[in-house]
Amino acid sequence: MSAFDDVYSANAKFAESFGSSGLTGRAARGLAVVTCMDSRIDPLGLLGLQPGDAKILRNAGARVTDDVLRTLVLAVYVLGVNRVLIMPHTDCGMAKVTDSEVHALTRDHGVDTRSLEFHTVPDQNEALKHDLTRIRTTPFLPPGMPVAGGIYDVHTGRLTPSPH
Ligand SMILES: [Zn+2]
Repeated sequence: MSAFDDVYSANAKFAESFGSSGLTGRAARGLAVVTCMDSRIDPLGLLGLQPGDAKILRNAGARVTDDVLRTLVLAVYVLGVNRVLIMPHTDCGMAKVTDSEVHALTRDHGVDTRSLEFHTVPDQNEALKHDLTRIRTTPFLPPGMPVAGGIYDVHTGRLTPSPH
């Protein structure tokens, strides 16, 4: 028995009727989505996408970190991406804590995380604006590439485009 038996056996069933063997690693619809790791978000389903259509980048809070930028550069120049949607969501855990609170929480477990930056989100609209600007102004991505933001409501399933 392993901690992963459930997913391994589910995969065995999945592979029996696997139908996506013809796909390449390029994003067929030219889209990259930066979203949160929140388990309530189904990025493909909520945007009408299929496997093969888009690059999905996920982290805590849907933040545009150095690693997200690095990945977008590869997605754009190597893998067919030509538009980016940043999609944070309502009821996000990252908007409910500060970095210092996370450090305090891990300290209770005997772990010192002060060398990590968690990119917590005191103001979701400001964070989104900041992250959109970061992508729009980076010298590493094509100027004028469509970049949009929208907040996904985990209780209604609705995506509200950001005015920024
Ligand atoms: Zn979240």
